[in-house]
Parts: sequence; structure tokens; C-alpha cells
Amino acid sequence: MLDAMASALLDTPVAIRPRSADVRGAAAALEGAPAEDIVGWAAERFGGGLVLASSFQDCVLLDVALGVAPALQVVFLDTQYHFPETLEYMDRVRRRYDMDLRIVRPRVAPDDRWRRDLDSCCAVRKVEPLDRALEGRAAWMSGLRRADSAARADTPVVTLDERRGLVKVNPLATWSDADVQRYAAERDLPVHPLAARGYTSVGCWPCTRAVAPGEDARAGRWKGTDKTECGLHL
Ligand code: SF4
Repeated sequence: MLDAMASALLDTPVAIRPRSADVRGAAAALEGAPAEDIVGWAAERFGGGLVLASSFQDCVLLDVALGVAPALQVVFLDTQYHFPETLEYMDRVRRRYDMDLRIVRPRVAPDDRWRRDLDSCCAVRKVEPLDRALEGRAAWMSGLRRADSAARADTPVVTLDERRGLVKVNPLATWSDADVQRYAAERDLPVHPLAARGYTSVGCWPCTRAVAPGEDARAGRWKGTDKTECGLHL
């Protein structure tokens, strides 16, 4: 199924920084492929160098990925500002899967940074901990979808995380909200407790609000500011 460009990436030793042309080739080859196949490609290509980052706002990608690659390491960034419901949900999901879960915390104690400098707060509570979690790895997976928001409409299935020199894989990039709901129902997946209260996207409690019907799914994140992303996906 993979074309020559994707095969070139397959043949590239992990230690060598991935070339953008090969990554683009892999993205083209895997566009429209089932999420299981995308995870399978990444697991075969990167082996133990692959990590899945989950925010535990749902467990769809986790269910897909662990079904294909049960030994995959799952990373959760404990910013110290998660809703109690998210931590409870994580424990619930953890009981369902026998997974290698790594919880990574910031190097700084809780403070009031989020009140005065959102970017700085995300930098020390999300970006630096993820950088640490990805040290020595070759690739990481996230649950980013094009349907999440206008800013994510061009999300590739496979891309280059240029800042970290890693390949980034987004197996659910082409999934609609309905695809996610259908999959979760078919697999009888646990649902985040805040979903029923209008939280269509769940992050840290100081920066997350419920959204009104018809609003963008991520409209409740950093509401009232011009911030739309935490910096993990740049
Ligand atoms: Fe800080 Fe808010 Fe970013 Fe969480 S989402 S790390 S509280 S600025």
C-alpha cells in the first residue's frame, strides 16, 4: 500500500533525522487509510521509539492504538491543573487497558502563572514536560483531528515535528465528530464525565469552559483570549 516515498521513510534509520520529503510521501500514502493501518505503519516503522500522547478527554485513539500496538507507551501530561473528573477518567481508562502509562509533571510547583501569562504557563506545564517525555524517541502520536477547529483543518496524517526533529502521526486526522462518536459507541468506551456538561474539549480547569450548541468544539479553550493552542502541536 505504501508508495515509494513512504517506503523511503520506512528504510530511514531512526537515528537519522527524518527528511520532510519522505514524511510528505508517507502522509500522501496514508491519507484516507484506516486509523489502525496508520498506527500499524508507525508501530512497525518506529517500534519502541513511538509514543502516544493522550490528554484523556476521550480514549478513542488509545483504544485504536493499543489494539494494534499493546506495548505502546502512553504519555499523560499532568499539568497540575486538570479537572478532578479528568484524573478520575484517566484512572477508569487505566483499569480497562493494561497499558504502559507514563505521567509527566512540570518541574515547577503550582503557581499563578495562568492568570498573567498563558503562553508561559503552557510552556512550563505542557511543552517542556512533553519535550522531556519525547527525549530519545523517534515519533509521537496525537489525537488531533481536522474537525477539531478551523486552525486544525489542514492537519496531516503524518508530519514532521520540526522543532523536536521527530515524526508526528495523527491517525484520527480525517475523522469527523460522528466517526468518533460511532467508534466510541461501537466499542462501548468510557466517556469523560464533563462531556455531558458541554465540555467538547477538555484541558486545564482555569482555561476550559463548556461550549454552547453550535459553537466550535474548542471554543471553550482559553475563552476570551486569542490563544487557540497550547504549543504542543506547533
Ligand atoms: Fe496553564 Fe492554562 Fe496552559 Fe493549563 S492550559 S498549562 S493552566 S495556561
